[in-house]
Amino acid sequence: MKMQKIVVLSGAGISAESGLQTFRASDGLWNQQRVEDIATLQGWEKDPEFVLQFYNERRKEGRAAIPNAAHKALAKLEPHFSVTIITQNIDDLHERAGSSDVIHLHGEINQSRSSIDPELVYVIEHWAMKMGELCDKGSQLRPNIVWFGEEVPMINAAIPVVEQADIFMVIGTSLNVYPAAGLVDFVASSAKKYHIDPNGLTQKNTHGFHVIPKKAGEALPSLVQVLLNEADSG
Ligand code: NAD
Repeated sequence: MKMQKIVVLSGAGISAESGLQTFRASDGLWNQQRVEDIATLQGWEKDPEFVLQFYNERRKEGRAAIPNAAHKALAKLEPHFSVTIITQNIDDLHERAGSSDVIHLHGEINQSRSSIDPELVYVIEHWAMKMGELCDKGSQLRPNIVWFGEEVPMINAAIPVVEQADIFMVIGTSLNVYPAAGLVDFVASSAKKYHIDPNGLTQKNTHGFHVIPKKAGEALPSLVQVLLNEADSG
């Protein structure tokens, strides 16, 4: 029998129980900094050193963090389902929990890229990026993060994957950031849809989803067990 396809759209909330702060859209701050200063091209052009420092801190804490029960539960699905995780997160906790097919919509904290050519991407082995580190074309390296106002190239890879989902889960995202939030519109009407977020009942664009208003680390191990039991008996 053909394996069912599970597609997950995750956001900052899934990493909250690993100690990483979420992004609070309501007051426009991320780790006490104004979004304009640390997550826009204008912020980078105004003070690149400050922006590098901000992401150096995120890289340091991201590497120290460990995958939580939610990341681990998702990884357990893989032998029984075809699973793709589409994440808005820049951390690598899904991969470190064992998930093998992860699409990062908004970039990766452990990568740098050229500031003149987005195709020139490098893995960061050390933890602190510095001014004066150059790409092969001679421009300053910046974090490989998609900032507000920039294109989200991976959305084109994500849409057809969402369309194939038999089971679709939205986990730990406020669904405020587009185009990522618009992915819910591409889910087939026949798919089973879950929304896991303590504030899920108040979010507007997941009508028709089965809402589980709990923390991801509390809700996912049992949901995953139910799905694994169903796969066994099917
Ligand atoms: P968001 O901060 O806007 O929303 C977080 C959501 O997670 C909220 O709806 C909140 O209710 C929920 N939440 C909080 N704790 C939870 C838990 N334990 N379990 C389940 N849900 C929980 O985040 P977003 O929608 O992902 O958008 C923020 C943007 O900031 C993204 O683009 C992302 O790239 C970036 N970001 C990434 C990280 C990371 O990589 N870990 C951290 C902060 C921000």
